[in-house]
Amino acid sequence: MKDEIDKALENRDIRPTAMRRLVYQVLSRERKAMSLVEIEQQFENVDRSTVFRTLKTFQDHLLIHSVDDGSGAVKYALCDEDCTCTVEDQHYHFYCVKCGQTYCLKDMPIPPLRLPEGFQPENVNFVIKGICPNCQ
Ligand SMILES: [Zn+2]
Ligand SMILES: [Zn+2]
Repeated sequence: MKDEIDKALENRDIRPTAMRRLVYQVLSRERKAMSLVEIEQQFENVDRSTVFRTLKTFQDHLLIHSVDDGSGAVKYALCDEDCTCTVEDQHYHFYCVKCGQTYCLKDMPIPPLRLPEGFQPENVNFVIKGICPNCQ
């Protein structure tokens, strides 16, 4: 398991540290996106700013992407190994209005955008709201 984590980190040019391994492990355990507070709650005695810095490093190296699901807290989820976080690589997210969980729908890529001339997309935010399988 440790080897797998190190490989995933090194694949994104991130030097594995104890903290980075732990945060990666938390995110890979779940298929859902997690907020900074939710991730922090997985640890005892960990400084929030340390977790935040780790997430920032992960995001800078395209290991994770952030999701704004409208809940007020930014959430984070792992990217696929070959993700480049361009608009073409982004997918729909599903926000469950009952449990508040946000899921990556990686099998549902964002359809090609046909924007009016002069508009250059950098980031899209497609969130479907509804009831997840766990809450039905
Ligand atoms: Zn739910
Ligand atoms: Zn996602």
